[in-house]
Amino acid sequence: MSVLVYTESEKGKFKKVALEAASYAKAIASKLGTTVTAITINAENTSVLSNYGVDKVLEVSQSTLENFNAKIYADIIKQAAGKEGSQVVVVSSSADSKYLAPLLAVGLNAGYASNVVAEPSNLSPFTVKRSAFTNKAFEMAAIHTAVKIVGLSKNSFGLKEQPATMSSETFSPTLISSGITVDSIDKVTGKVTIADAEIVVSGGRGLKGPENWGIVEDLANVLGAATACSKPVSDLGWRPHSEHVGQTGKPVASNLYIAIGISGAIQHLAGINASKVKVVINTDPEAPFFKAADYGVVGDAFEVVPKLTEKLKEFKAQNA
Ligand SMILES: Cc1cc2nc3c(=O)[nH]c(=O)nc-3n(C[C@H](O)[C@H](O)[C@H](O)COP(=O)(O)OP(=O)(O)OC[C@H]3O[C@@H](n4cnc5c(N)ncnc54)[C@H](O)[C@@H]3O)c2cc1C
Repeated sequence: MSVLVYTESEKGKFKKVALEAASYAKAIASKLGTTVTAITINAENTSVLSNYGVDKVLEVSQSTLENFNAKIYADIIKQAAGKEGSQVVVVSSSADSKYLAPLLAVGLNAGYASNVVAEPSNLSPFTVKRSAFTNKAFEMAAIHTAVKIVGLSKNSFGLKEQPATMSSETFSPTLISSGITVDSIDKVTGKVTIADAEIVVSGGRGLKGPENWGIVEDLANVLGAATACSKPVSDLGWRPHSEHVGQTGKPVASNLYIAIGISGAIQHLAGINASKVKVVINTDPEAPFFKAADYGVVGDAFEVVPKLTEKLKEFKAQNA
């Protein structure tokens, strides 16, 4: 009857969303008076999960599972849920989990609520708060099925350290055939991706042209941040489409989002308003982005950003 949490990893290392999902699973388990079981696929150093309240880990280790496959992964989690008799399964809202959760819901005949942002407010019926309309509204959703799947929104619950005595077990599920095999994945290397970034530095049309992106990259480098951009910037070919954030681009739920020369159109804000702290640098004090910002600098990006980068470099050097 334990709460099952799928703890995602990449190249053996747990993603932050996995530890957040484990923290969240612990909170639900405490409410239900039960334990937390984590399922891992090709993860290393699983002992870290015990810091986040996991009581038991089912470890799947299989070289054929190196590349994510939604159908196969969903089936493995389904088998783990069956083995543990889990009535609640927690996944993150990462792209992979959003892909596998509906398949898992079909397999377990379960209700699935995605983008959940808080602990359940009620256990019977099981009721969760979820963000809707690209984070512009919240809804309370009750899941009435026997098995419930909760997709936790990134950065909504946070990491909560709660050391537990954890047991670990090798789990050897039956592997189904998915009809597709992924032979290789060529990922951009050496860059922080928007999805994984704690900090995102984003540029808009106010930067005038691609030749000026050096100031964005310098700031991103000193902060260890990912770079992003507004839609027109990628439409104009100044930056790759993979950097376009907003309603029609990638969603950003970073701890810090720095918007440089971006006006703050509603479609842009729709994709970034799950970010915790928003800093805006814009020459126009009337730019709509200032209304959504936590901190704002009214000023010319070409003056402000290099100065900010210099100050941060000095700060890092003093605190190295
Ligand atoms: C259906 C639809 C979907 C869309 N989806 C998206 C989306 O996903 N993402 C997205 O971003 N947009 C999206 N858009 C476009 C959106 O409406 C805006 O047009 C766009 O976000 C504006 O981009 P921008 O802020 O870079 O440019 P602009 O609106 O041109 O703003 C540039 C800003 O830079 C400031 N500026 C100028 N010079 C400087 C300087 N030297 N220093 C500092 N600031 C300066 C200006 O004051 C201005 O505020 C969508 C539009 C539609 C209709």
